[in-house]
Amino acid sequence: MKLRAILLFGAPGAGKGTQGKILGQIPNFAHFSCGDAFRNLRVDSPLGRVFVEYASKGQLVPDEPTIELWKGSINGLTATGRFNPEADTIILDGIPRNPRQVELMHDLIEVKAIFNLFCPVIEKLIHRLQRRALKENRLDDANVEVIRARLETYKRETRAVLGCYPEHLIHQIDSTQEPLQVLLDILKILAKIPKPAVSDGNTTFMVAPHLQAQSV
Ligand code: ADP
Repeated sequence: MKLRAILLFGAPGAGKGTQGKILGQIPNFAHFSCGDAFRNLRVDSPLGRVFVEYASKGQLVPDEPTIELWKGSINGLTATGRFNPEADTIILDGIPRNPRQVELMHDLIEVKAIFNLFCPVIEKLIHRLQRRALKENRLDDANVEVIRARLETYKRETRAVLGCYPEHLIHQIDSTQEPLQVLLDILKILAKIPKPAVSDGNTTFMVAPHLQAQSV
């Protein structure tokens, strides 16, 4: 069975994490941030070491271990009851991050929508990342050289992900707006996406439109 997925897409600093955390609080949604999953690894674990090596240069971690980490995290969320693959939608933030990852995840996720948080002003992204460095103690946000390398990686490898999906799934969201307005823009679209037939373990069912008035 493929997981229902929404992709949050955009350059570093576009606000994927901010939106993902909020959206993940909605019943029947869960948020997965690939960057957070890497940062939660012990730095002395084998993959933790690989992460530090690549992230400190603004580069992507190799694809296969990244996808394994993602699978393991989803299994963890499922086992602990925070994600129900049959009824819930996973909000993916930071994955897939290049066309190879799209391919590796192809049989595992059914992408329902992609929100492209675009930001035409690069300096704005850099400014946001530097502010975040102080707030969240992120080393890769502190150094302008690393920030520039990440933006380059985004342009060179990640942007191509958009070309891997049909255009009707892609929604352009202006990320230079206030977070609340970005959220509203996303919610308006999200609300229109058809729900799965069973929307929570066993209580809510899709009701035919002509019967909706009678449902409780
Ligand atoms: P941002 O989007 O602000 O650049 P993230 O927290 O998403 O930051 O990612 C931080 C770092 O984690 C990336 O620079 C990269 O090294 C690594 N990373 C995150 N997601 C992926 C991924 N899907 N594939 C490979 N590397 C990743």
